[in-house]
Amino acid sequence: MKKQVVKTIAALLLAVVMTALGSGCGHRRDYGMEFNLATDCQYSYVTDHDYWKKIQSDGEGQYLMQENFIYYYNTAKKTLVPLCSKPNCLHDKETDNDKRAECNAFCDKFNMELSYLQYYDGYVYYVLSNFMRSALPTKSCTLYRVKKDGSKKDAVFTTSNEEEVFHWLIHRGVFYYEVPGKQQNGTDVYDVSTIKAVALSSHMSDKNGKVIFATAPKYAATNFSQLLAYRNYLCFEVTLVEHHDETEESPHIDCKQYLYNIETETMEEIPVPEGYSKTTLINRVTFLKDKLILQLFDTAHNDDKTYPLPLYSINYDLTDEKVWLDNVPQYMWLQSCGDYVILSDGNLHYDNIITEEGLLNEVLKDAEQPCINVTIYSSDAREVSAFVYPRNESWGKFNGFGPDGIYVEIVNGDDGWSIYHFSLDDVLNCHGEKIKIDLAATRSYEALQEYED
Ligand SMILES: [Zn+2]
Repeated sequence: MKKQVVKTIAALLLAVVMTALGSGCGHRRDYGMEFNLATDCQYSYVTDHDYWKKIQSDGEGQYLMQENFIYYYNTAKKTLVPLCSKPNCLHDKETDNDKRAECNAFCDKFNMELSYLQYYDGYVYYVLSNFMRSALPTKSCTLYRVKKDGSKKDAVFTTSNEEEVFHWLIHRGVFYYEVPGKQQNGTDVYDVSTIKAVALSSHMSDKNGKVIFATAPKYAATNFSQLLAYRNYLCFEVTLVEHHDETEESPHIDCKQYLYNIETETMEEIPVPEGYSKTTLINRVTFLKDKLILQLFDTAHNDDKTYPLPLYSINYDLTDEKVWLDNVPQYMWLQSCGDYVILSDGNLHYDNIITEEGLLNEVLKDAEQPCINVTIYSSDAREVSAFVYPRNESWGKFNGFGPDGIYVEIVNGDDGWSIYHFSLDDVLNCHGEKIKIDLAATRSYEALQEYED
């Protein structure tokens, strides 16, 4: 959140308007109480919001979004191929625009920054926007899917005109998506963001969807992030920037986390534990079986990355909130995977600087020590393992383990890009040692880089 909040500069507060429009997700099948790889959000991969869901598992390998193509990395065979089984297709090596568009692995992102994919029940899904294509008369976003063997690609859902989808996910039969909007009241224009839900089917339509959350029409800016789901719950963060006049120094910004019960269709704000000042927010939420784990952030200590705060646990009915682990630096990256909670300190190695354009940038501050320290805790907050993860500047932050217990890293080189991998089992017994990361597969850029126009 920190990054996003500072970027938008804002403040958050929130107001929730819940409107139920239409029907839509009425008849759900029973998905059970446990994580279901085929139909559930793969929350364990979550990284910075920019990168989240670039990697998705089907239990045997990983689907990766790299530039304008989707690839499949088979964990056992260590093979890396475009997700397209068309005979005679050149995939990412095709230079003819029309032929390339026919490739099942091709996803024409049009420089969309916020694009990602999700594996769901035998298909890989992604959303493309045509908002950047000024020549087109209608603006909309389309949900595409590619069969897991690369044999077919089709469009399954297109939003109404002018509805641009930002964050989204598919979980237990429903496509959830965030749509930013504007609302005019007299001369004032407000940012109004909504989260909609529409059942996944062969005849998906906006009119079968419903708004499950909307911000009140009183903010200058609103922003969703960290959309995640687990069992019968959807969780997300909303940032709200209040209107302010020129005489004020800066607008008030608030940031809140919400939990939506998809079975009872009820929405609740996750409360900040008692005893904290108003500058303390819930920064991140993750799932640990029967509990949510909450990470706090104190905006009064925004520049102090090591400012210590406890992690809390809380039940899904938002009762029994208590300290789960004390004294955790507030910029530690929080992830979970099955029975484990993972903390990594990649963020602590960066300084925030403001560029001449007024943008927030992160720069590596200790180049001589380019490592990430990762600690793994059991569900009762006992440290069970720690390892040092070697990193150079081209590597991302810690991506998290997939539901198959595999960690995958994409590294861009001069002539091509590579996949590195290791498994959760490898690091559960490594006794804090620097781990060896295996180079598993590489692919040259070839035509891929030429197609950047
Ligand atoms: Zn192809």
